[in-house]
This record gives sequence, structure tokens and C-alpha cells, in this order.
Amino acid sequence: MTPRLRLQPEAVGMGMTSQRVRDRLVERLRESGISDERVLNAIRTVPRHLFVDEAFATRAYEDTALPIGHGQTISQPWVVARMTEALLQDAPKKVLEIGTGSGYQAAVLAALGMQVYTVERIGDLLRQARKRFRQLGLNVRSKHDDGRIGWPEEAPFDAIIVTAAAPALVDSLIDQLAVGGSLVAPVGASGGQSLLKLTRREDGSVEEDHLAAVTFVPLLSGTLD
Ligand code: SAH
Repeated sequence: MTPRLRLQPEAVGMGMTSQRVRDRLVERLRESGISDERVLNAIRTVPRHLFVDEAFATRAYEDTALPIGHGQTISQPWVVARMTEALLQDAPKKVLEIGTGSGYQAAVLAALGMQVYTVERIGDLLRQARKRFRQLGLNVRSKHDDGRIGWPEEAPFDAIIVTAAAPALVDSLIDQLAVGGSLVAPVGASGGQSLLKLTRREDGSVEEDHLAAVTFVPLLSGTLD
């Protein structure tokens, strides 16, 4: 699969956001164990500097989480790459993301040709993310809601990715997985979590794999404007 982004040259930016800076990030991700070329290519293609405030644009291609307002962060590129790699193994078509945030993770999934549905509880962040999807010509469906209930009207999903941490797995999300589908989510206490991949088997059982130790902002209840 090749990324489907059709970028305007002026949207790509120059200087600290140049192709060379992005290539350096990709090399760094490769050195830290990301090997799926499709994922590396998507990270190279999606302009992460457009997903952060201008004040942080020069740091957009560092392998680090950055603030996006409302006490939230855009995830570290390595974490986005690792989660995307884990999802891609099962070639999902229809994917649900909980925690749109900046929209970067959703954009990476859409660039890989997935049909993306994403839910965010903070209205202001979702409005900004929607603008970015439009600007980049990405077809991402989104909803302002408490993502812990998933998106039942659109279920089942081939994969679900949760980009905020919960102390335990949310059962309503597992119920919205297609048989053979997988859920990738950080699970654990607020100080640090285990990135888990759960696969829903045909016999009803759930297979669980630990992917990495990670730190995400918490999955909270209710919505904010
Ligand atoms: N995937 C995002 C990461 C954003 S951080 C990115 O690429 O930028 C996690 C996001 O999850 C925050 O924006 C936070 O507001 C959101 N969030 C937390 N709890 C949520 C919930 N119950 N439903 C939907 N979104 C939630």
C-alpha cells in the first residue's frame, strides 16, 4: 500500500520541516526497531508540523510528544509508528480511533489507505483536527463524544486504536471489534502503561500481547466544548 496523500507543495513547508529533517526522523525510528516500510513511508509523508502549534513546528520531527493545548499531547512518533505497525499486521480496512487529539495518528492511518473513524471528547481539539483533515484532503470521519462508548452505529471495526490510557480495558470497545479484529491500547495506571494488542478470536476468546511500555494522557469521561 502506498500513502494516498496528495499534498500541496506549500503545505509541505521548508526549513526545519524539510524532507531531510523528516528522513532523519525515519532513520531514527528504523534504528529503534520500526521495520514496516509502509509505516515509515507514511511517517515520512504526513506533515507532522501541521498537527502542532506553530510555536512547536520546528520540533515536529523530533521523536517526542508535544503539547497541543487543553493539557493534551500529540503522541511521540515512535509510539504512533509502533501502534500503526501492530494494526497493519492484520490488514484492517475499517478502523476506529479513540482520542483524535491533533488528528496525526488518524492521518497516518488514512494515509495508509484505511477507512478511519475517530472520536474526541474535547470539541476545540476536534475542530482543529477536522481543519487539518480537510487541508490535507484526508477522508476521516469524526465525532465529538465520549469515546469509551465507541461508535456502535458504525461497528464492527476491523481494528480499534485507543490513544489515551485507561486503568482497565473497556469492554464496550472489544464488543465493537469484528471477529479476528484487534484492539491496540495503553492499559495501566496514570504514571505508565503497557501497550497491549488484543485479538478477538473466532471461538470468542481474546489473545493478548504486550507491545511496549508507554505513557499516555488519561482516558476521561464526558465531553468538553
Ligand atoms: N491520537 C492523538 C493523541 C492525542 S492525546 C494524536 O495523534 O494527536 C489523547 C486524546 O484523547 C486527547 O485529545 C484527549 O482529549 C482524548 N480523550 C481522552 N479521553 C477521551 C474519551 N473518553 N473519548 C474521546 N477522546 C478522549
